[in-house]
Amino acid sequence: MSDWIERDSKYLFQNYGRQPIVLERGEGSRVWDSEGNEYLDFVGGLAVTSLGHSHPAVAAAAAAQAEQLIHVSNLYYTTPMIELAELLVENSPLDRVFFCNSGAEAIEAAIKVARRWGHDEQGGKHGIIAMQDGFHGRSLGALAATGTARYREPFEPLPTGFSHVPWNDLDALKAATDDNTVAVLMEPIQGEGGVNAPAPGYLQGVRDWCDENGLLLILDEIQSGIGRTGTLWAHEQDGIEPDIMCVAKGLAGGLPIGAVLAREELAGHLVPGDHGTTFGANPVATAAGVAVLRYIFENDVLAAARRASDRLVARLRAMEDSLPAVTEVRGRGLLLAVSLSSEATAGVVTLCRERGLLVNNVRPDRIRLMPALIVGDEEIDRACDILEEAIQLATS
Ligand SMILES: *Cc1c(COP(=O)(O)O)cnc(C)c1O
Repeated sequence: MSDWIERDSKYLFQNYGRQPIVLERGEGSRVWDSEGNEYLDFVGGLAVTSLGHSHPAVAAAAAAQAEQLIHVSNLYYTTPMIELAELLVENSPLDRVFFCNSGAEAIEAAIKVARRWGHDEQGGKHGIIAMQDGFHGRSLGALAATGTARYREPFEPLPTGFSHVPWNDLDALKAATDDNTVAVLMEPIQGEGGVNAPAPGYLQGVRDWCDENGLLLILDEIQSGIGRTGTLWAHEQDGIEPDIMCVAKGLAGGLPIGAVLAREELAGHLVPGDHGTTFGANPVATAAGVAVLRYIFENDVLAAARRASDRLVARLRAMEDSLPAVTEVRGRGLLLAVSLSSEATAGVVTLCRERGLLVNNVRPDRIRLMPALIVGDEEIDRACDILEEAIQLATS
């Protein structure tokens, strides 16, 4: 194991703070390292392995597609992309899909759709209001939209036209809107920002404000979508619909993919030559996406995820009652976090890992939990036993 880590340190960019384990194999909610140690995975590839690791339905679909046709480019039609687009449109309020390869790319495309619409229909309006603590990716446009100054500042100058307002503050959004504003870009529940749920009525208020002022509402469901919060899309729980939606992470169960969904009249503003990506709509990635969505619908995975969430939340709330260090349980569905009163989370992450549980400290005072949507009851119980012990040890 240390040999691999030494070679990594010699050959790769050292731009990640990786945990010191080399993972070789996964199945369901479990992964094994190169020394045979088993871990319960409550990071889930950062909300990517929606059906767990190497789910047979996803692996079989990807393998079969790989044997048949891996790539041909967007100069041609292929069938998996059309099947996946159909599934997305039939199960969302939007009309058309553009495929790309990551979350940041989906954000870039959404920004271009909004700007193109502003250019064509709104006299060149191009301002986008995003949220403080919002996260939209690391490419320059997505970074400009991201609401954490310390991610942005070392890379300035960034594309202009973005402003940021406090989360859950409708008045701030109203005050920031001006004649140049074309769209609001936000997550329906903030993930990287620390698992911040919208206040009751907030998203409806944003939707109404957009409608009253002719602004597009772009929802970034890259982390919250594909059942992560217990419904296929997080926005369903707030009774609103976006004009444009970005999807990625969990969509293909682990294969790289991103997608932008838009209303018909917006999608129509991107014409041939306006936008594209060589790997977008890749047959293997889109075949995996078809397998993920079919499995979710045919096996009532959303209901299972809600039951799993109830069990996990009950255990976390019990910890909140019994452990003074745990000050709050946050989130929805299986996008959850516990707040710790001290900045003990790095220690908790290590103690958990040493006991066979992978979790992530999304903020210095928050441990995030994002297990597979199909995580089992015993796996939840065991993860909570380990987490509880780790928090006790790290904060006593
Ligand atoms: C992860 C994430 C992104 C960026 O996705 P990448 O695939 O890492 O580019 C954008 N928005 C949200 C809400 C995310 O969680």
